[in-house]
Amino acid sequence: MSYSGRKATKYNILSYMLNHGDTSKVELAKQLNLSMPTVLSNVNELMESGLVTEKGELESTGGRKAALIGLQSDYRYALGVDITANHLGIVLLNLCGEILGQERIRMKFHTDLSYYARMAEELRRIYAPQIDSGKLLGVGISLPGIINQKEKILVKSHALNLENYSLKMIEQILALPVYYENDANAAMLAENPQRLKNSVYLSLNSTLGGAVCMNGTLFTGQNRRAGEFGHMILVPGGRKCYCGKCGCADAYCAASVLTQGGKEKLDEFMESIQTDAKAMKEWEEYLENLAILISNLRMSYDTDIILGGEVGGYLQDHMVELGRKIFQYNLFDDDLSYLKNCSYRREASAVGVAKQFFWKVMETI
Ligand SMILES: [Zn+2]
Repeated sequence: MSYSGRKATKYNILSYMLNHGDTSKVELAKQLNLSMPTVLSNVNELMESGLVTEKGELESTGGRKAALIGLQSDYRYALGVDITANHLGIVLLNLCGEILGQERIRMKFHTDLSYYARMAEELRRIYAPQIDSGKLLGVGISLPGIINQKEKILVKSHALNLENYSLKMIEQILALPVYYENDANAAMLAENPQRLKNSVYLSLNSTLGGAVCMNGTLFTGQNRRAGEFGHMILVPGGRKCYCGKCGCADAYCAASVLTQGGKEKLDEFMESIQTDAKAMKEWEEYLENLAILISNLRMSYDTDIILGGEVGGYLQDHMVELGRKIFQYNLFDDDLSYLKNCSYRREASAVGVAKQFFWKVMETI
């Protein structure tokens, strides 16, 4: 999108707020390299149009307190849906990226109309009582597979057992604009790539995915297969992977590895490592394999690595053990500041794919 003059300035201000959250006029001037009078007049116009609002005062270090300004949270809304083989994850977001409603429903995927009809019903149940539906921009849908966004085709999904599957029917049933994205890419988008510039996202879900962001945009590769870290060989001749090969990273580092020992859910497993010696040993092994994968990614990309997915949400409390293991394999780095914990512990893919609609708000200026 190319804007000139004042429109470009407004675009940059809104884009900064979408990526960085609430801010101040002084910070906008500094970060966007604008004069204070330019910031003031543009912010005033954005306030008049209802897109931007004052949000209180910044903590001051002396002198007059600066006003905190940011996006008007109820200006627009978006829904995000994460489709997996066994679940449907749903979020309702406001323009500030805050989750207003969230649901995870156990629902086996199938391609009958009834599946999508139920999805539409569940979405309505979440947004209808909460928001003015005229302010709803659309539904973002994340899927575990390779997506051709232009043609709206799911090119291939191992997890859903689909190939060249048309997604057009979904938007007819939902009767709302729909945006599709691969689940790991969507989780990366939840982190606001323009803020991150360069980074790698490791999605440790029931299957292992990844995404790469370069210069603030997703790098998808020649065949939209960039970031398929789950199928890099970690142990030659090792455990069988669902893709058919042996020794893939997925068979060692996916969240499902931890829940196979009779533990129904990951939170049960994580609780059991406190007391159960067998679970503790499994967790140790898991971290060992994850450390190899992480150090390989760091060697390949030399960027921040975001630990996401179901396991990523728990790793925050285990960074010391993980770090100790990584140091065995990586002699280049003196610290682990490149390892980041994900911003959304749950439903990151649904959040990321919903957020994409907020860029459309820019078109209203
Ligand atoms: Zn594999």
